[in-house]
Amino acid sequence: MASANQPVLEIKDLKKHFPVKKGVLRRTVGQVYAVDGISFAIGVGETLGLVGESGCGKTTAGRAVLRLIEPTSGSIVVGGTDITHLSKAELRPYRSQMQIIFQDPFSSLNPRMTAGDIVGEPLLVHGVANRKERSEQIAALFARVGLRPAQMANYPHQFSGGQRQRIGIARALALGPKLIVGDEPVSALDVSIQAQVINLLQDLQRERQLSYLFISHNLAVVEHISHHIAVMYLGRIVEYADTRSIFTRAQHPYTEALLSAVPVPDPAIRRHKRVLQGDVPSPVKPPSGCHFHTRCPYAIPRCKVESPPLREIAPGHHVSCHLR
Ligand code: SF4
Repeated sequence: MASANQPVLEIKDLKKHFPVKKGVLRRTVGQVYAVDGISFAIGVGETLGLVGESGCGKTTAGRAVLRLIEPTSGSIVVGGTDITHLSKAELRPYRSQMQIIFQDPFSSLNPRMTAGDIVGEPLLVHGVANRKERSEQIAALFARVGLRPAQMANYPHQFSGGQRQRIGIARALALGPKLIVGDEPVSALDVSIQAQVINLLQDLQRERQLSYLFISHNLAVVEHISHHIAVMYLGRIVEYADTRSIFTRAQHPYTEALLSAVPVPDPAIRRHKRVLQGDVPSPVKPPSGCHFHTRCPYAIPRCKVESPPLREIAPGHHVSCHLR
């Protein structure tokens, strides 16, 4: 699934399995198949929305992409360089190119540091700029994300939720990254504030040609910011296409169910609401065949025994379902 332009990030068959240990001897008795072979690419200035219910593996995927956790197998290529097996020291220059924004800005900001020190920390760690230049850069970052430079001396608890997320964005921007992974970056915010933060992210993308991997459980949230959308279910991508195709011609029953929960702004248009039965099954023992067969209204006997490959059913539109 290649992006139209030279990818900033290319992921191939990425897997992250966590061992399940039991007993006094901590023997490995199984695996959690959190991410089980996903592939995608993100081009310069593009956003890929990675969507799925809680427990589908999207957060693990986001962290594995940045090598904040080590992948079990597969490859991560950043700007043409395979970084999958680079040592910590070799990885350092790539770290500054790839940043993350977390869901809960309050718990991700050190409460004992001033907002200015939080935003300036990456500059300090990477030895960029002297004290005076650093302070000027931090003030410029504050202004750019809609905060007053005078607020640099304040502590995280003195800011609102939306402002705290702006601090998180300023920190992510400090080293001039090419790629930002947003892990549910607006989910903890009020709806009106969500729109402001998404607008800010879009403005920054246009200005700096940033690429985003935007992780969310909510399709409505990713719609406005994503160029492409990948829908994940139990560690695998089940549908991948440009955003318009996902919203107008979704092909996978799981995507259809997620879409049916998205409110339609026009009251004349009604979507048939399809409530998904049950929770996402455990990734320790995923269902056989198609992982979705235990919840799929269209499942046929073949679905229980045979895993459907992710196939390109129309240009750029990939679906993993026996019926498509
Ligand atoms: Fe449903 Fe079968 Fe398609 Fe899976 S392969 S989504 S169970 S119809």
